[in-house]
Amino acid sequence: YAKQRGKNRVERYQARYDELLRRRGTLESELRHAIDREQLRLVFQPVVALPSMRPVGAEALLRWHHPTLGAVRPDEFIPVAEESGLINRIGSWVLDNACKQLADWLSKGHDVWVSVNLSPKELHAADYAGQVADVLAEHGVPAQRLVLEVTEHAVATDMEELIGRLTELRTTGVRIALDDFGAGYSSLSQLRTLPVDILKIDRLLVAEPESRTGEAAPLVDVVVRLGHRLGLEVLAEGIGTPAQRSAVEEAGCRLGQGSLFGWGVPAEHLEAQLDGLRTGTRPVPQPRNEP
Ligand code: C2E
Ligand code: MG
Ligand code: MG
Ligand code: MG
Repeated sequence: YAKQRGKNRVERYQARYDELLRRRGTLESELRHAIDREQLRLVFQPVVALPSMRPVGAEALLRWHHPTLGAVRPDEFIPVAEESGLINRIGSWVLDNACKQLADWLSKGHDVWVSVNLSPKELHAADYAGQVADVLAEHGVPAQRLVLEVTEHAVATDMEELIGRLTELRTTGVRIALDDFGAGYSSLSQLRTLPVDILKIDRLLVAEPESRTGEAAPLVDVVVRLGHRLGLEVLAEGIGTPAQRSAVEEAGCRLGQGSLFGWGVPAEHLEAQLDGLRTGTRPVPQPRNEP
């Protein structure tokens, strides 16, 4: 019996593994056509100043809508794009479209910046900095209006190489944000040596006060102060409740992002909100269409 049970378990495992491989293969071959078939789009999640909650920027987040697979989340398809080498083409599409949107907002007089997520592979592509400079020039976007986000995962690789790449990127005038800080990989000493401008505190740290009712958020507090001491701007990600917002504000954090202020939305929704601000009317409530 034991032998039979063991065999069943192995078979189940094998079946699950086969299924994962099939899904991955499907995603890869479909992703290959996603740009040409116009299945990709960007949504923009507002970044607000604290405590005013006034939108000052937006993070471009990629969405893939496939006719039969439905909405596939970036956490699933970005790794596939990275492993299959498709990420460079997709990343170029993202950068181009984000800059196009940014140029449009700037031309309408909105005082905002836009951030774009970068995969380590893109960062390490030959002359990535040159590509960024070209896209900025093509759309007539001042470099300081663009933020490039690199994750802690990129930091886990060769530090010397990474520092060189980021330094080169920064000479174009763009700002660099270190994404998901505190979620795992990078160490405090690395933070000191990395040429970055903005520190994005991961939402796991931001969610911490909820589990310790009444107390100040000690980790957020320390990271905000550390960031400021290093001369960085600090942005708290994934703020979902008023309590989290208060904790982050009390820690001295001046930038925030999260469902409390709005999920990622199509550009025209965010634009309506920006228009509302300018005319002094109340911000337009955003449709809660995510996650
Ligand atoms: P990220 O850059 O850390 O982006 C933040 C993620 O948290 C987004 O998920 C966003 O929708 C979600 N989020 C925002 N506020 C809240 C909140 O209050 N609560 C919770 N629970 N979640 C919140 P999304 O869009 O699914 O993206 C996941 C990750 O995929 C991103 O994490 C980023 O690493 C990657 N990604 C997204 N777009 C791109 C892209 O264009 N290029 C690359 N290379 N990676 C991308
Ligand atoms: Mg990000
Ligand atoms: Mg993040
Ligand atoms: Mg992330």
